[in-house]
Amino acid sequence: MAEHVKYYADLILPLPLPEPYTYSVPKDLESEISPGTRVMVPLGKRKTYQAIVYRLHKEQPLKYETKPIISVIDPKPAVLPVHFKFWKWMAEYYMCTMGEVYKAATSAIGKPGEKPTAGTAKFISLHEKITSQDLCSILEKLEKAPKQRELVKTYLQRIEDCNPSQKWPLIPKKDILAKTKASVQTIKALQGKKIIVEKQEIPLNLNEEQTGEPVKKLTSFQYNAIKEIDKQFEARNVVLLHGVTSSGKTEIYIHLIKHFIKEGKQVLYLLPEIALTAQIIKRLKNVFGGKVGVYHSRLSNRERKEIWNNVLNPNGQLCRIILGARSSLFLPFENLGLIIVDEEHETTYKQFNPAPRYHARDAAIMLANLQDCKALLGTATPSVESYFNARSGKYGLVNMEKRYGNMLLPEIKLADTRRAGKKKQMKSHFTPTLFEAINHTLKKKEQVILFQNRRGFAPFLECEDCGWIPQCGKCDVSLTYHRQFHSLICHYCGKYTALPEICPACKSSSIKTCGFGTEKIEDDIKIFFPGARVERMDLDSTRKKNSFENIINKFEAGSIDILVGTQMVSKGLDFEKVNLVGILNADNMLHFPDFRACERCFQLIYQVGGRAGRKNKRGNVIIQTGNPDHPVFRHIIENRFNDFFVRQLNERKEFKYPPYYRLIKITLKHKNLDILEDAAVDLAGSLQKIFGRRVLGPDFPLIPRIQNLHIKNILLKIEREQNLSRAKSLTKKEFGKLLSSPRYRSVQIVPDVDPY
Ligand code: ADP
Ligand code: ZN
Ligand code: ZN
Repeated sequence: MAEHVKYYADLILPLPLPEPYTYSVPKDLESEISPGTRVMVPLGKRKTYQAIVYRLHKEQPLKYETKPIISVIDPKPAVLPVHFKFWKWMAEYYMCTMGEVYKAATSAIGKPGEKPTAGTAKFISLHEKITSQDLCSILEKLEKAPKQRELVKTYLQRIEDCNPSQKWPLIPKKDILAKTKASVQTIKALQGKKIIVEKQEIPLNLNEEQTGEPVKKLTSFQYNAIKEIDKQFEARNVVLLHGVTSSGKTEIYIHLIKHFIKEGKQVLYLLPEIALTAQIIKRLKNVFGGKVGVYHSRLSNRERKEIWNNVLNPNGQLCRIILGARSSLFLPFENLGLIIVDEEHETTYKQFNPAPRYHARDAAIMLANLQDCKALLGTATPSVESYFNARSGKYGLVNMEKRYGNMLLPEIKLADTRRAGKKKQMKSHFTPTLFEAINHTLKKKEQVILFQNRRGFAPFLECEDCGWIPQCGKCDVSLTYHRQFHSLICHYCGKYTALPEICPACKSSSIKTCGFGTEKIEDDIKIFFPGARVERMDLDSTRKKNSFENIINKFEAGSIDILVGTQMVSKGLDFEKVNLVGILNADNMLHFPDFRACERCFQLIYQVGGRAGRKNKRGNVIIQTGNPDHPVFRHIIENRFNDFFVRQLNERKEFKYPPYYRLIKITLKHKNLDILEDAAVDLAGSLQKIFGRRVLGPDFPLIPRIQNLHIKNILLKIEREQNLSRAKSLTKKEFGKLLSSPRYRSVQIVPDVDPY
């Protein structure tokens, strides 16, 4: 057999393997196989995998007998060589394998070769009769059917980040089955109990409908900004557009997109969270119609494949503009002219799990360099890193300091919660200043947004008599009280627990709530402002069918007076009649144990504040804090971004953080604490021999145990000037040495480069 083989193919398998594997190409498949072709191959005794051809060659491997490729999946290559370059960069930079990148990239296109068997349903959801109040009792009733219970819980975890416009979103059945030990029978049983329902397909909504809405005429400020962007692009690929909220950045994007489309190019418009951007989708569709494809990882396989194939066909008219979340970076563009990274400062651009743990903004810049296209980063509150790069000339920088229509930026005031507390002036969580301002705004028939960066009713419960706090048994973290679900929920593993009526430690019945979340604020409003129409916008309230859009539409139409919400309310929403934005507790943002806490606090307050007074008159922002002297508030109030930035940079330099140092976080996990601790000490010790005092830890993280795995972190701080890729390969070698010891074989080691 082997003598007849002419070609060999190095394949990437969707596994964390360090190197491609070589297979032989059977004669009858020769003509169908080229780099980028997806193929089925055997591995081990029984398994088959969908692999992708990385390289074709004639060098027969000497060390082992090659196995033949079984079949070809797609008629055409799924990606092109330029995409391999991108994958390779990603695997090297983020310390993962090509297999993991391949998996992330093509999870988008699923198994196009396989036709669905007629009649089998592909998606499941909870029964529409079930309300969120029922969940706890359902889970209790399933106590005796652990597989069914696990399946329902997996479903609930999976929908946590779903597009909130569907009540119980459809989730691919196979995803759920893959994550649980459940089988098709389990689903059948749950169907019988009217808990789960099955559905065939999510309808596609791609079409070439014609549009017509002309682009808006730019103001002279906007026109100058575009001219400046063009000029900066002549010398470099990356430009940072720093424009205050409502300066018309989105209009600028639309003009640029139009320009690149006219030149026959593709455009990628990245957004931090697709679910929160209905307004932007609408604005783009109005102008570009079917040329716009909206892409994210929660579409069905069929929808994603449809978009994938449209992007692969660069001469087609559909999907020339992709509006997408971070996973759209993997679409097979070959003719990209422009990548827009909107709200470039957003943390949601970072993928934390699974590998590749990439930052979509940074990966976008790399992709732009590989395809020689332009990248425009836009924001009203640049990240310290991007601003640093812009100031140092690595990126171009264009400023827009005026709002559209010359609207003034809102007036920002502080309200001292500590002083008001001492004087006994607090009304629940409201200072007199905020309380009065709400009253005043309501009287004028204008709208209010209240921001509280915590969902739920109260962060935790506490026994007044003995101080007992309910904890998640698996995660070392206190449970959050969600009144809407009548339960305590672990925000780490998603576990639901019924509310305790008496304290299990001392049998007292005085269990009180501590702290406050959005639910509590909504409650307070109903008590203090009984005439006002209030709605809440957070993950919990937007799970119901169309609720996110409904809330926004109602708010736009003026049938809500007060909107209470988490950061969801800070994201790019554009309302006319909002005059007041209240930030209930700025301190819990400021005191978060993270080197970016201050930066995040600045960004969030500025962004939420930017929702005030966008159209007709100057808005007001009131920040409640117990630390009114903190410099970050001065900088926000006086709109001194530069001073804020310089102060941040000084701190970053002093405490060895980015952009002066690069961070690599190494997380070790194991269910046995002793093994974990020893492994962490050994690894830190051997890294110290190489990197000296650049190694910090091992330390326990804030939550030292999640889902029964103990966790320890080691942090590497490498100077910007050092050779980072060498540091990474030395580090990887130490991982290998550690894992080769039998005692540590089952320790999980997770490297995270730029872990923020
Ligand atoms: P940003 O993205 O900077 O927050 P937007 O692009 O959303 O700003 O603009 C704010 C508001 O001003 C939007 O309602 C937008 O339609 C309007 N606007 C901006 N520029 C123009 C323009 N040139 N002509 C008409 N309306 C504009
Ligand atoms: Zn007690
Ligand atoms: Zn938990």
